[in-house]
Amino acid sequence: MGYLKQIDIENFKSWRGKQVIGPFLRFNCVIGTNGSGKSNLMDAVSFAVGERVASLRVKRLRDLIHGAHIGQPVQDTSRVSMRYCDDDDQETVFCRSILGDNSEYRINGIHVTLAKYMEELEKIGIVTKARNCLVYQGAVESIALNDPKERTKMLECICQSKEYAVEYEVKKKA
Ligand code: ATP
Ligand code: MG
Repeated sequence: MGYLKQIDIENFKSWRGKQVIGPFLRFNCVIGTNGSGKSNLMDAVSFAVGERVASLRVKRLRDLIHGAHIGQPVQDTSRVSMRYCDDDDQETVFCRSILGDNSEYRINGIHVTLAKYMEELEKIGIVTKARNCLVYQGAVESIALNDPKERTKMLECICQSKEYAVEYEVKKKA
């Protein structure tokens, strides 16, 4: 199972200029005080996976540019790049930029259509449908249908607690 390794942001919502968020692990927890940007981070990911503007808590795309919420956008473009890492440690960079009220999409720096962008995202199991929610194709259903042992295995894999299983068993017997 691949994972989101890093996000590179430029003038998106609460981030001014170029900012790097990450590296992430397979399982991450975002904490912070009210208004510190937790939901903005989810908005950045949602934006990068092609969410419609209506799902990004703004009226127009340009409202996502840093400073636009107070009528002072720092520039007329903004960008979010999502570095996706597959099982072989191979990286793919999905980048969406704002140009006025339009978006531009790039994969590994190459300009692509929205259709192609979404197609490539679907190949890694990302289907953008719900508000602020990334639906991994087939995953919700299979998780719900898994038997409890399978579900436990999956959660152990995500949070990497499996790595400590042997040590845990040894210490339990000691
Ligand atoms: P809560 O715990 O209340 O849900 P949060 O951590 O999810 O808070 P966010 O909604 O992510 O907070 O961030 C809100 C902040 O983002 C606000 O303080 C607002 O000033 C800032 N913000 C929103 N849009 C922009 C923008 N275009 N430019 C700069 N800052 C922005
Ligand atoms: Mg929030």
